[in-house]
Amino acid sequence: MKIHIPRGTVDIMPGESEKWQYVEHVAQEIFKRARYSEIRTPIFEHTELFQKGVGDTTDIVTKEMYTFNDRKERSMTLRPEGTASVARAYVEHKLFGQVNQPAKLFYCGPMFRYERPQKGRQRQFVQIGAEAIGVQDPAVDAEMMALALSIYQELGLKEIKLVINSLGDKTSRLAHREALIAHFKPSIHEFCSDCQTRLEKNPLRILDCKVDHAHPLIATAPSIIDFLTDESLDYYTQVKRHLDVIEVPYVEDATMVRGLDYYNHTTFEIMSESKGFGAITTLCGGGRYNGLVEELGGPASPGVGFAMSIERLLAALAAEEITLPIANHLDVFVVGVGEAVSPITLKLTLAARKAGFTAERDYLSKKVKGQFKTADRENARFVVVVGEEELAEGLIVIKDMTTGTQEKIAMSDYIATLQKKQHEGETN
Ligand code: ATP
Ligand code: MG
Repeated sequence: MKIHIPRGTVDIMPGESEKWQYVEHVAQEIFKRARYSEIRTPIFEHTELFQKGVGDTTDIVTKEMYTFNDRKERSMTLRPEGTASVARAYVEHKLFGQVNQPAKLFYCGPMFRYERPQKGRQRQFVQIGAEAIGVQDPAVDAEMMALALSIYQELGLKEIKLVINSLGDKTSRLAHREALIAHFKPSIHEFCSDCQTRLEKNPLRILDCKVDHAHPLIATAPSIIDFLTDESLDYYTQVKRHLDVIEVPYVEDATMVRGLDYYNHTTFEIMSESKGFGAITTLCGGGRYNGLVEELGGPASPGVGFAMSIERLLAALAAEEITLPIANHLDVFVVGVGEAVSPITLKLTLAARKAGFTAERDYLSKKVKGQFKTADRENARFVVVVGEEELAEGLIVIKDMTTGTQEKIAMSDYIATLQKKQHEGETN
């Protein structure tokens, strides 16, 4: 019986995995320059962490989690997102006690959500994310948005836009909540059953409903911006002022409410505007979450962060027809003449690798002609030929495949000659 891959998951195969490595590397370099350090948290956590840290009324917690009991009947969940784990670790390792704040952390790894698979939506997907915890400062919010954008920009994406909003502080949100309830209550029977539950629990979620998004009452719903307290409005203005000065363009969308319960003040999304992109256009989501660390048992430590999936990032690159400059060259192919020299071809292959070259040989006992064919197909820069007769004299042949010239050299000069030729090739 053939066993297939689970629905909503993929094998990232050679040819594709290089793109992932490239993207991850670019992101790591960007984080390094911005002084973000990597954090690696477990793939599973106590279910309670996400119930508290993501929120009981979110789609993630109510419908999408992979939850199971372990052998001691403890409820565990495969992480659906990264922020809750990072905030837990911030408390667990007392990062709030460090002199330098905010703690700047980034992560990259698989997340799991039980969703209906479609283009840009999988059950296992990989998120790159960053969190800055410990400070509330509009400069940090603006830096976070610029940081997320720079990952897309350094990879060459052009057709992207930053959308921002503010959800204000607790007072703002409470006032807005009352207005939303008053707005939707008389007609709530026209909405899906989820929205009917949301009305009292978290009416903001109605604005984010994937079923009722076209209902006319959604478009006319009271805007959060009208309920921002003076402090919240001032903070939002400061964030925008920072974006203006650092020349990061944005559009405001007062209807944008992000999926997680713990957001307040700044929220943002980065969307693809490329025509080739599918129906789901959000590439990245982020925002401020003051109160999350407290919720998880730490001292008040305001935070802000973002998460993007590599799947949607690669889809955006494909939509803009951007090819990543992935190097996959073969420096050296070692050809052996006769089976007797096999250990020597292996030795020369390993020696080249040790010296930093990419190197390969034949493992199929091919004739010399066949080995040269392989070297050609693999686009080898140099072919090294080892024959029994030459070997007896301590000699080997190096052929430069770009110029076609070849020379016989002492085996003891092998690596030095390769290095010299490589260098000549670079300076020509
Ligand atoms: P959506 O509205 O598309 O479900 P979300 O609000 O659930 O998004 P977040 O929890 O904010 O998404 O996650 C941040 C980013 O992670 C998204 O912008 C997207 O790039 C990516 N993402 C979320 N869910 C998936 C998934 N199932 N498959 C692939 N990428 C995903
Ligand atoms: Mg979702």
